[in-house]
Amino acid sequence: FTVLGIESSCDDTGAAVLRSDGVILGESLASQSEIHEEFGGIVPGLAKTAHEEKIDSVVNEAIARAGLNSVADVDAIGVTVGPGLEICLRVGCNKARELAMEHKKPFVSVHHLEAHILMARLPFDDKNAKFNVGGTEEVHESKRTVQFPFLALLVSGGHCQLMKCLGIGRYEIIGGTIDDSLGEAFDKTARLLGLPVGGGGGPAVEKLAKEGDPKAVELPIPLQKRKDCDFSYAGLKTAVRMKTEKIAAERGLDSVDDLSHEDKANIASSFQNVAIKHIEQRLKRTMDMLENEDGGIRSLAVVGGVAANQELRRRLEAICESRNEPWEMMVPPPRLCTDQGAMAAWAAIERIVVGSTDIPDNQEVYARFPFQSLS
Ligand code: ATP
Ligand code: FE
Repeated sequence: FTVLGIESSCDDTGAAVLRSDGVILGESLASQSEIHEEFGGIVPGLAKTAHEEKIDSVVNEAIARAGLNSVADVDAIGVTVGPGLEICLRVGCNKARELAMEHKKPFVSVHHLEAHILMARLPFDDKNAKFNVGGTEEVHESKRTVQFPFLALLVSGGHCQLMKCLGIGRYEIIGGTIDDSLGEAFDKTARLLGLPVGGGGGPAVEKLAKEGDPKAVELPIPLQKRKDCDFSYAGLKTAVRMKTEKIAAERGLDSVDDLSHEDKANIASSFQNVAIKHIEQRLKRTMDMLENEDGGIRSLAVVGGVAANQELRRRLEAICESRNEPWEMMVPPPRLCTDQGAMAAWAAIERIVVGSTDIPDNQEVYARFPFQSLS
């Protein structure tokens, strides 16, 4: 069967048609990065208007690219209903409800974070690069997906969590952030260094970090005294700002904007290094704990926008390989780590397979949407 998925929880309007075996038949994504670039962050009112302007064309484009004539040709519709920006979620949700009622299609409400997690279960080939775009059966042969139960590290714009994934709708949180998320820390660092932040500052920080020395600027690893699996990035964010201002003062500069490319690269690189060190420490502790449990979990899924970061992927892969009994690690291809329509479609497919569908008529959206309310 095929599913149309719609995603509008934040600043991307996405739609995709997926086949139930995970093949992406067609997708479309309208990013608002230019709109928000000017303001240095997401402005909800502008995001909502942009979603309203794009939603029809994005849906139509996904349908056309899938080689279908109309929404009547898909078998079900899935849409993100939370968590996220309420006025943005409502644009996608209303569109999906209308379409489901008009064409009398089964309707599935999707939890945005579950959708990020489930992307690690979308069948894709071992090289980790090519997805099954276009529906070629050969590619599908080499599929590799993570099976329940597994450990998920969700690192996104709004979340930083470690959780045990037991089944569809069944998640147990092991650790979360006590303040900022990792994505936010990347975004704030980008802004501090005057890098492009529209659509998230992460990619720009990662690029600049490649040119710097990760040990050049000394920064504290967060939560050294807390022996749990929680995260904190607010202190690191402040430390990066203070160090940056100090370096500018030492150089006799009036503003951090005037720092040399080399200084900025060293700051980006040192920030990224310590930010990932924090993840490494928390992850190792979680692995120690899980390895001592019965039916021990030995698979890790790294998901959410920051999972697109190559340095993070490389270092977590190294941890998985270095365990006494190696863990397998799954991470979606970079473009499927950040928000897009395929995640809504795939999460809907996973829900339909376990017999979970909803009624479109009065479907609400939820700014906050705890995992517990899924099961
Ligand atoms: P949430 O999913 O928690 O509701 P969101 O949907 O806004 O938040 P995502 O789209 O999952 O977040 O991820 C966006 C975040 O990922 C941004 O903070 C962005 O800077 C970060 N990001 C994207 N690519 C990279 C990268 N290559 N390196 C580091 N961070 C990245
Ligand atoms: Fe997201």
